[in-house]
Amino acid sequence: MPPPMKRPALATWILVGLIAGLACGLAACYLLPADFNAAALRWVLRPVGELFLRAITLMVVPIVLVSLTYGAASVGDPRKLGRVGLKVMGIFIGTTVLAMVIALALAEGVVRPGQSIQIPTDARYAAREAPFVMDVVVNLVPRNPLKAMVDAEMLQLIVLALLVGVALAQVGPKARPVLDFLGSLNDALMRAIEIILYLAPPGVFALIAKVMIEQGVEVLLPLLAYVLTLAGALALQAAVVYPLLLALVGRVSPLRFYRNHFPAMTVAFSTSSSNATLPVNLEVTETRNGVSKSVAGFVLPLGATINMDGTAIMQGVATAFIAQVYGIGLSWGGLATVVLTATLASIGTAGVPGVGLVTLSMVLASVNLPVEGIALVIGVDRILDMLRTVVNITGDAVAAVVVAKSEGEWDRAVFERGKG
Ligand code: ASP
Repeated sequence: MPPPMKRPALATWILVGLIAGLACGLAACYLLPADFNAAALRWVLRPVGELFLRAITLMVVPIVLVSLTYGAASVGDPRKLGRVGLKVMGIFIGTTVLAMVIALALAEGVVRPGQSIQIPTDARYAAREAPFVMDVVVNLVPRNPLKAMVDAEMLQLIVLALLVGVALAQVGPKARPVLDFLGSLNDALMRAIEIILYLAPPGVFALIAKVMIEQGVEVLLPLLAYVLTLAGALALQAAVVYPLLLALVGRVSPLRFYRNHFPAMTVAFSTSSSNATLPVNLEVTETRNGVSKSVAGFVLPLGATINMDGTAIMQGVATAFIAQVYGIGLSWGGLATVVLTATLASIGTAGVPGVGLVTLSMVLASVNLPVEGIALVIGVDRILDMLRTVVNITGDAVAAVVVAKSEGEWDRAVFERGKG
């Protein structure tokens, strides 16, 4: 009798969903009648995609609170927490600045995608005002924990969870029952995410097919030079910067890392949201990439909120592009300002679809470029957002692995084995 066929792992099914979503979406967009596509969107693609999106988004607030509180409490020693915090911030800022340098070198130095483009006369974009920096600082602390949860204010939740976690660690043995409770709740939430992930193959399929039918890819053509420059810079970050960091600093295999991390990348690609991908990124980084609960619980929620290398890259390339279209030269000082403000703007970008374009106005304003320039790139942003979100969450997972390794909080056996 032939041996029973091995069932493909969930990660493989998610990949199938991704490829089938792209292929069917494009085929439907160009080959099938509009009526059929409208019905497919209404009856299948929107509801299935929305169901998956809701199911993972549902987990974001509980998982951030529980995993971060538990993570901070089980690191225990505030000095260790501070050290981990410093390392993480160093990696976050270092990789974002590198990302910006790559983006500007490519867009301003090598390709210059905006040089041969005319300014359309109907370019309009109403910018939102940048928040006052002291308000941002004050806003870190929630007035009311429930409101922070209801509004899913990530930075406020992080502050709350860190405070409670550190306090629990300091209470000592008396806090044991709470810690045990949080530990079991954390495990249960992780299990819930694993269950939700069974929805991922059809969910990813539906979300991607929907974008392809609604947008088509011909929107990319007029701005192909911009699209390719941006995709190239994102690819350099993912295929050169992160692997070097993993191999040289972390001393772990980048290939193995990507193999394990892949399901989180597909979810980021299909949802365009770091926040929505956070539960899956946590699950994958712990159970496939071998990072301890405490380090993953600390690094990933923080990263999903403030570490956005892909967004910084988009802002760098878009700024150079807009300056070239308007025929405005950027001095070295201007370029340095762009690096600084895009790093800050990416920190201030919430992990939801499309926000990177809103905070781009801060970067443009900092070097006196017309904010209407955003109207030039808005049409292609929906699809590019998918790519940059993948880089955003990958940077977080890389930081988690490197920090975990350096703190002895990394499990080689889990990493080598990966999982289905
Ligand atoms: N969609 C991105 C994210 O969630 C943010 C952005 O618009 O750049 O990571």
